[in-house]
Amino acid sequence: MSVPVRIDLHTHSDRSDGTDSPGDLVRAAAAAGLDVVALTDHDTSVGWDEAAGAAVEAGVVLVRGMEISCLHAGRPLHLLAYLPDPDHPRLQGELRRIVEGRDHRLPAMCARLRQIGIPIDEDQVAAQAAGTAALGRPHVADALVALGVVAHRDEAFERFLSPGRPGYVRRYAPDVTAMLGIVRDAGGVPVVAHPWGRTDPSALQEEGLAGLQQLGLAGVEVDHQDHAPRRREELRAIAGNLGLLVTGSSDYHGTGKKDHDLGCNTTAPDQLELLLERAREAARVAGRRTPEVVRP
Ligand code: AMP
Ligand code: FE
Ligand code: FE
Ligand code: ZN
Repeated sequence: MSVPVRIDLHTHSDRSDGTDSPGDLVRAAAAAGLDVVALTDHDTSVGWDEAAGAAVEAGVVLVRGMEISCLHAGRPLHLLAYLPDPDHPRLQGELRRIVEGRDHRLPAMCARLRQIGIPIDEDQVAAQAAGTAALGRPHVADALVALGVVAHRDEAFERFLSPGRPGYVRRYAPDVTAMLGIVRDAGGVPVVAHPWGRTDPSALQEEGLAGLQQLGLAGVEVDHQDHAPRRREELRAIAGNLGLLVTGSSDYHGTGKKDHDLGCNTTAPDQLELLLERAREAARVAGRRTPEVVRP
């Protein structure tokens, strides 16, 4: 493939909690001047085929991926998995368990919100989540906006949906140490998403990342909107010490997240080349392959 210059490795479509269809997302990526875009919906690959078709037409390289909701030492940690075989049985099984956990959590969240006087039910949330495979708190947030309870998603999280708030309910998430092995076994390349985003940076420092690297972690998402400039430099230095790949991305959610425009952070071409090399190697070892879609 010709040398790509603008690379965004983390985006969401309406198959999870973004607002663009996979095809629209890919076309928006092309319009934004991106050469490479990765579709990384939460816990699902259902958007891949539509995105791949659009990528060929739009002349964009599509890297198929997903963002898997995991736990690290009992706290949420998001793991980006690039180019895994979605038909790998254990990967499929875990994704199914996560998505079922999402579905089961919804009635409990609505019940808790009704207890504090907010007249919300599952149908109202489902109406905000058409086409979604991975139902989440963002859709509950959208329903709260539609009800006029809050002005936007962020306010819904702050007041009702974050841990410790009245509408919060835990759901199933696999431990990242197990998921790293599964992603590798599926021929994929695991990269930890926004490790210092919403959580306390002390939760995952150099030692912790080194431990995950031993289990197959290939890279760290350094350039992310939830990381302040100083944090990015600290994290970049740690990645350099450990020899982890460094990625940057928008974590675009359409209109679902402000200040996450496509291409607002990007990944260096040499880092993508290394990532694709790792994917080829992982696929060879695992006997599985999910090729990136290259423009015709
Ligand atoms: P869930 O996976 O359903 O528990 O929801 C988590 C998702 O909600 C994350 O992946 C983000 O996209 C979004 N999210 C989490 N916290 C916030 C927040 N404080 N404000 C807005 N969106 C958030
Ligand atoms: Fe999200
Ligand atoms: Fe995330
Ligand atoms: Zn994301």
